[in-house]
Amino acid sequence: MKVLLVASECTPVVKVGGLGDVVGSLPKALKKLGLDVRVVIPGYKDILYTGGGGASCKEYAIHYGGEAQKIILHQTTLSDTDIPLYFIENEKYISSGGVYMSPSAFASSKDEIERFAFFSKAVVELFVSREDVFFPDLIHCNDWHTGIIPQLIKAEARYIELKRPAAVFTVHNLANQGISSVDVLFRLDGEELFKSPLIKWDAADDNLDFIMQGILASDVVNTVSPSYAEEIKTAEFGEGLQEAIKAKSARVFGVLNGIDGALFNPQKDSYLKVNFSLESLEEVLKGKSANKKLLRKELNLQEKDAPLLGLVSRLTKQKGIDLFINSVDELLGMGFQVVVLGVGDKTLEDMLLSKMNELEFSGDCAGIIKFDEGVARRIYASSDMFAVPSRFEPCGLTQMIAMRYGAVPIVRGVGGLKDTVMDGITGFVFSGFNQSEFLGAVKRAKRVYESADLWGKVVSNCVNADFSWDKSAREYVLLYAKALKFSS
Ligand code: ADP
Repeated sequence: MKVLLVASECTPVVKVGGLGDVVGSLPKALKKLGLDVRVVIPGYKDILYTGGGGASCKEYAIHYGGEAQKIILHQTTLSDTDIPLYFIENEKYISSGGVYMSPSAFASSKDEIERFAFFSKAVVELFVSREDVFFPDLIHCNDWHTGIIPQLIKAEARYIELKRPAAVFTVHNLANQGISSVDVLFRLDGEELFKSPLIKWDAADDNLDFIMQGILASDVVNTVSPSYAEEIKTAEFGEGLQEAIKAKSARVFGVLNGIDGALFNPQKDSYLKVNFSLESLEEVLKGKSANKKLLRKELNLQEKDAPLLGLVSRLTKQKGIDLFINSVDELLGMGFQVVVLGVGDKTLEDMLLSKMNELEFSGDCAGIIKFDEGVARRIYASSDMFAVPSRFEPCGLTQMIAMRYGAVPIVRGVGGLKDTVMDGITGFVFSGFNQSEFLGAVKRAKRVYESADLWGKVVSNCVNADFSWDKSAREYVLLYAKALKFSS
């Protein structure tokens, strides 16, 4: 089966959040199952300047906004594999500005919409309208950035004799919808797209919702955890799309994300100064203790006998960062040291900074406002516990990475957090989104931490939990088979 994964991020080339991790690792597991899988992402300026890994290039012209636009298709491979990775370069729409043009990475500004509408059109012209590049059996789209592609495939296939590729659409986060003004349709391919009843219906209120188009026009939809697939059918988590999703529910599935065990491996992680094996609990605890000492030095925390609670996240409301910052005083009062690494919404960055300034001389907490893979890995390796107090969580990777590095997660029981953390066994789960329930779970964790035997069991359960991609990749293959059946 020939599959093209289309997305806005792909680790290690470009990563803002978990989407990048997924797109960088799922193809490796699919390839192991015998699929001919390839990945295409935008050729952002940063990628092109860093060389993109010795890519070969070819020039094409596509039609957008009533004019021919030059694009350059770069082809390289996904790191440490022979899986083809394509970047699409276009000076006007894609390759100027940063990775995501909006100040908050997940907001969809007008320029952002235009960039991904153009990118989507380029993907379809290169991989669906012609056969000489790579003609997939199935296109796997991810999040709003690629949401218009299933419609474009259908519009395109009316002109040509080729069989239409099936479309799978994965919702990584329903909160970011890509709301566009309707005029983008004219730049894309007005006439044909307007023949779609779904487009007409969506455009009736004078805007177009890219993620809804992706959900409704694709052959099969999935979310990145089974619980989130159920949650998005409710008003609480459905972001206004719950009725549309319910109408499609026979084709909506949940496939839990995995993590790349080769990439997230404390034994080989080059970001750590002290690597440690997961073979025995003793080695894990010894390794973590050595890393904790070094992290304290790196972040100017005092050396003392205290549990370290880490948090690595985009700083957004979704992630419950406000709840966490408001709890820092109590956490320190309970004897914790606290480390937060994140970047995102300005108000939350300011809130974190002001809390850290207030506690600057305590030597017991550190807030680092930047995106830094190395610091993130050292936090996972050093923390005894790791907080994920999300309002909602489509899957969440940080709790799984934390477990692999022997940091016990304390999470809110929503979405993928609920599906990956077993209360009292591989972590501590709280239910209501409020400080008292969060702190209650922290207290329970601390009580267990104080008994070396009980804590050892929980840490062992964490490092032995299997979040490899193998099982999820097999589920994706079944999903692809369903999509092929529905599309024929
Ligand atoms: P989301 O995709 O919603 O941001 P996930 O939990 O799925 O959240 O994935 C987040 C990924 O991004 C993890 O690999 C995490 O380690 C990483 N990450 C988040 N913030 C930072 C940061 N400031 N520095 C380094 N890595 C980060």
